[in-house]
Amino acid sequence: MQGTQGGTPSWQENGCTIEIPTKCIFYKREIMARSICGLPLYQITISRDSKTYKRKPVVIITSRVHAAETPSSYVFDGIYNFLCSNNSEAKFLRKFYTFILVPTLNPDGVVCGNYRSSISGVDLNRQWIQPDEEF
Ligand SMILES: [Zn+2]
Repeated sequence: MQGTQGGTPSWQENGCTIEIPTKCIFYKREIMARSICGLPLYQITISRDSKTYKRKPVVIITSRVHAAETPSSYVFDGIYNFLCSNNSEAKFLRKFYTFILVPTLNPDGVVCGNYRSSISGVDLNRQWIQPDEEF
């Protein structure tokens, strides 16, 4: 998927449609990886413009590494809506930072109804020190 400058891209997930109401935003949604079950892991990049977003400090925000922690999706949606808004603080943040958002780090666990683990039975939040591509 290509980044957009202006326009009104929308993002649909879990029945939720979000439209970006401003033209002073760089928005890019792409599949960064696939889970063991083949589900997409989306990465959303938000900044002010396509010319400078690669040079700015990056803030990474992820959600749902523990599948059952549904409140994190509500927090994520709030952050996402704020960063895409016309709010003056959101514009300020987009001017000086690039945000990389991952709405669901453990889609297999979410689909299977697991509490903390992925489909492989591993708590992904305990794998940061010694990551394994298979998990
Ligand atoms: Zn957790």
